[in-house]
Amino acid sequence: MSVHTYALEPVDDLLRSVDPDLQLAPCGLRRLVLGSGAITAVGDTVLDLLGQERGVQAGTDRPRVTLLMDATRILRAGSDLKELVEQQLGERFAVQRTVLDDGQPELHVVDEVLDAAAEAACDADAIVAVGGGTISDIAKVAAQRARSHGRRPVLVSVQTAASVDGYTDHVSVVLRDGVKRTVPSCWPDGVVSDAETIAGAPAEMNRAGFGEMTSMLVAPADWRLASLVGTDEGFHPGPIRLLTMVGEDLDTWSRGVKVGDPEAVAALTRALALRGIATGVADTTAVLSGMEHLVSHMLDLYHTEHHLPMGLHGAQVGVASVVAAAAWEMLFERMAAHVGPLRLDGAALDPARARAGVDDAFGFVDPTGRIAQECWRDYSAKLSTVSRLRPRLEHLLSSWPAHEPELRTLVRPSLDIAAGLRAAGSAASFAELEPRVETDLARWAVRHCALMRNRLTVVDLLTFLGWWTSTDADEVLDRARTAVSLSEQGVS
Ligand SMILES: [Zn+2]
Repeated sequence: MSVHTYALEPVDDLLRSVDPDLQLAPCGLRRLVLGSGAITAVGDTVLDLLGQERGVQAGTDRPRVTLLMDATRILRAGSDLKELVEQQLGERFAVQRTVLDDGQPELHVVDEVLDAAAEAACDADAIVAVGGGTISDIAKVAAQRARSHGRRPVLVSVQTAASVDGYTDHVSVVLRDGVKRTVPSCWPDGVVSDAETIAGAPAEMNRAGFGEMTSMLVAPADWRLASLVGTDEGFHPGPIRLLTMVGEDLDTWSRGVKVGDPEAVAALTRALALRGIATGVADTTAVLSGMEHLVSHMLDLYHTEHHLPMGLHGAQVGVASVVAAAAWEMLFERMAAHVGPLRLDGAALDPARARAGVDDAFGFVDPTGRIAQECWRDYSAKLSTVSRLRPRLEHLLSSWPAHEPELRTLVRPSLDIAAGLRAAGSAASFAELEPRVETDLARWAVRHCALMRNRLTVVDLLTFLGWWTSTDADEVLDRARTAVSLSEQGVS
């Protein structure tokens, strides 16, 4: 007989401990079920949540459940996971299974797929999504659309890999005009993370999850920088405190992720879940998504446009986190070495020049100009905000020594990040990614990453200082390469 050790994570208690004054956005996730045998709790979780919503009790009219999934077969201890969930739900609910398929080898979050999911879920009492981050993102949009039509289906996500942290927040990443965009969707009411399912996921998925984790070692510095410049006023230490709790014991289980140790994978799953909650209650993904995510999105953009398979998001984020840490290191060193007052590079703030730069960067992947247009919409907004806030940016530069110590606490050395990735068996360099990212593509993605999105990062500050030429971007890539090779010497 199997022993079930799953438990409800006390999310509310954790949040109260990091945000006693309740200044953060409320957390819409009401049930986070983690651990061994958690899969047996899917039906109860849906029933509990339905009961809370509208007083439905077991034995009354069978509530309608839409089961959303992709076509990938997933095994749990030798059994078909999706069959298992369908059977379990079928004992209590009227279940309708919808398999989403856009004809591509991997499902993309495009309009037709979102429409199909929303249609399938439009009159459901509950939506149960079984799958990875993509399915979870699609289900959140479907639930959101139902809400906009005055319905309120319960949404439960059954997580099948610990590859990303997007299960436990209220945004979705969608593909718009070939570019990945984060859009508001809705919180899942419940997330079920079954240890056996997740430990049985392909090793590279969970290793990618570790890569995703490393963004918390760099992105908070970008978020703080944006708040100092004034482009993002939402900075709050609460989510950072929550992340510190997540990161505390990271070194103790990173090696276990490499060998697929169930306890280490469970620790990774919990850490990713809390990360998702941190971005959700901060009401911005900026907490955990800075330069490293932009680089990953650039790679996705390139691969999608060329009809090539996309790499795993988390694996790309891990590699790019080493690069982002290296960019911060270059900034800190140049600031320290600079003599005299720091000046902004007027050319970098010139819209006409910036527009030419965006056209140039994205014309490389899409000669029709569609992607450049989409990116310019976002980048021009960032540029005009920064131009408006120029006095504040100049003040930041003149008072840099007062802010630097705090920023330094929010970014870990590139060498430490590379060593962590190595320990967990995750990719640490572009060449180790699958598909392999060649040097020229990596240079393109890093050099132009700031142009794809309206989010301020260390690269924007470097750009406005005139310190982001191709030579500068190459220097950062060199620094990242050095960190990776030093970590190889230091880690057995
Ligand atoms: Zn991510």
